[in-house]
Amino acid sequence: MAIFFFLLLFAGIAYFLYTSQKSTKKASSHTETEIEQVLNSSIDFYQALPVSEKKENFKNRVVHFIQHVRFTSVGKAKHTLLDEVLIASSAVIPLFHFPNWEYRNIHEVILYDDHFDHQYNVDNDHHIMGMVGEGALNNTMVLSLRALREGFEKTEGTNTAIHEFVHLIDKADGVIDGVPEYLIPKKMIEPWLRHIRATMQDIMQHETQLNPYAATNEAEFLAVMAEYFFEKPTLLSRNHPELYTMLQKIFSPPSTTEKNG
Ligand SMILES: [Zn+2]
Repeated sequence: MAIFFFLLLFAGIAYFLYTSQKSTKKASSHTETEIEQVLNSSIDFYQALPVSEKKENFKNRVVHFIQHVRFTSVGKAKHTLLDEVLIASSAVIPLFHFPNWEYRNIHEVILYDDHFDHQYNVDNDHHIMGMVGEGALNNTMVLSLRALREGFEKTEGTNTAIHEFVHLIDKADGVIDGVPEYLIPKKMIEPWLRHIRATMQDIMQHETQLNPYAATNEAEFLAVMAEYFFEKPTLLSRNHPELYTMLQKIFSPPSTTEKNG
């Protein structure tokens, strides 16, 4: 009888630990099949992949992201599964050629319905479309739902969520400085910084058609160029071939591109 009692007690404690641990994690109500349907209908990058690359290298990583990151809509914002898939895909796309790389610096994505200011006032006149949290908001990303959706609807070479995830990749080595040390070959760091500064000069002198925001600093340069690289690669390869080749070495090193085409 005593043994039975202790077994029952043990089972009770185990169940409590299991459920309390579970409640601290994000409970995803979406199935893999539902996520796959959204990938098939809404993510061009995924659709363009060969079948052999879709599951392991993309879908599984999107599912993992959705199951481990909390999505919080604030104010009038109301996100759907589509938004979660857009965000998770934006996380996977820049790291597609780094299958063993996993984000350790994002736990939550906070969503506003429109653009916002530094006090998180939301209004379509405000200019912030997304940001990577610092200090108390460390491990958090803030995104405008409008900007997120437009990034995947329009084909102008802008994608806010990819931009912010590239900042997170850049941040993983401890500092957001335009040099993603886990991705860039070491011997390329100096030439990359030289190239950034020269191109920033060209942008400031209006000698390019690149988004002038890229000239803000090295970190913004990397994030803006990554948007072009993944959204409008032909614009870069045609007008800025050297820059394109450098980004290719950063985001798709030769050892992986041989395999992935
Ligand atoms: Zn930025």
